[in-house]
Amino acid sequence: MITLKGAEVSAKIKEQVQAELEGWRGPVPKLAIIRVGEKADDISYERGAIKKMESFGLQACSYVYPENISHEEFKKEFQKINQSLDVAGILLLCPLPRQVREKEIKEMIDPAKDLDGISPVNIAKVFAGDDSGFAPCTAEAVVEILKNNNVPIEGKRVAIVGRSMLVGKPLSMLMLKENATVTVCHTRTRNLEEVCQEAEILVAAAGRAKLLDQRFVAPGAVVVDVGIHVGSDGKLCGDVDFGQIQEKASMATPVPGGVGAVTTAVLAKHLLKAAKQ
Ligand code: NAD
Repeated sequence: MITLKGAEVSAKIKEQVQAELEGWRGPVPKLAIIRVGEKADDISYERGAIKKMESFGLQACSYVYPENISHEEFKKEFQKINQSLDVAGILLLCPLPRQVREKEIKEMIDPAKDLDGISPVNIAKVFAGDDSGFAPCTAEAVVEILKNNNVPIEGKRVAIVGRSMLVGKPLSMLMLKENATVTVCHTRTRNLEEVCQEAEILVAAAGRAKLLDQRFVAPGAVVVDVGIHVGSDGKLCGDVDFGQIQEKASMATPVPGGVGAVTTAVLAKHLLKAAKQ
């Protein structure tokens, strides 16, 4: 089985971004990462994103607010960043605390700065197959991994396990745009094992550690694992039992070292696109 390494795909995206940056005459594009509270996952994603932007020759800056900030106060702060001429793109770390009405904030975000595709405008564009907007970075990262490894998507049977607005649903649209035949699975899917076994490309985005083992994988299938979990042994693992599928899959992404590295590379690509627009 071939391991599809995220770092290799990220390096290719970096080359494209840097080549485009050479012809760029404006100020270095700046990403605003907005975090409310001190969740460890958010902080670790934020650190990774800042490092990645800097290594691509872009800028990133964190805006951090206390967990108990009121809705009105957060909205005011958010709008300042949203309207700032200095900021080319925004990454809002979600979910927000309960008192902040997330839907309202997502509706406020300037679609031209919405790098992770959370505004209704960008969601509509993804569903319309219009690439002038922004798809969620993780969903786009899955397609980048397949394309950069020359995995044909057109006409393939793709199963996506998970139907979230951040990964499963937008990814199903991106895969349709690539002319795949897509099945989206979720907690109410019957015979998940059989449905997954039909797939030539299997994407795991259920948020359940090691949910999919070799029984779910067709011989020769390509497996992309979006899940990230800290296992009982303290090590990171995905939604796929990577050790168990080696004999079945033809290619698979590892966790760590797979989709995560490509997600932040896509974020960098989106930042430059936003600055250019
Ligand atoms: P989510 O919890 O919002 O959605 C999970 C989806 O999976 C739901 O639609 C649910 O119906 C489905 N699901 C859950 N259990 C299932 C089961 N047993 N069988 C079938 N379907 C099931 O999660 P999300 O935000 O889409 O994230 C999914 C995973 O991806 C998480 O582990 C998250 O940490 C990870 N993630 C990784 C990146 C990255 O860059 N690699 C980015 C975002 C999220």
